[in-house]
Amino acid sequence: MATDYEKLLKRIEGNLNETKKGTEKRFELPIVDIMWEGQKTFLRNFLDFPKALRRDPEKILQYLSKEFAVPAERMGEKAIFVGKRDPADFSRLFKIYFKDYVECPTCKSPDTKIEKEKRISFLICEACGAKSPLIGKYA
Ligand SMILES: [Zn+2]
Repeated sequence: MATDYEKLLKRIEGNLNETKKGTEKRFELPIVDIMWEGQKTFLRNFLDFPKALRRDPEKILQYLSKEFAVPAERMGEKAIFVGKRDPADFSRLFKIYFKDYVECPTCKSPDTKIEKEKRISFLICEACGAKSPLIGKYA
């Protein structure tokens, strides 16, 4: 026999499930893992980001390099940047990249892909089917 407490828990659980269903799928970026050595910043889990964002690692590296205005290079899973950068600098840029190159502007779904037609890139949403032109060149 369920106690009142158990019944209450069930009710809370039920409410939580309903809330989950109602809200859109949220995208979680990996945690930025960096290391400093001399005047260089190593983003140790660089490859996790292109994987999560489902974008070309080379383009993402070019994007970071351009935004930080410093040279960057790949070394296996890692990316190396000249100068000292905080994890927050990376998080901020990845969030902007996500907004500009990944998130569907129509339904906010992260499930999108890039299609190139002539010299224009489009963001195709796998959730709602919207096709939006991309302005930036790091897709
Ligand atoms: Zn969409």
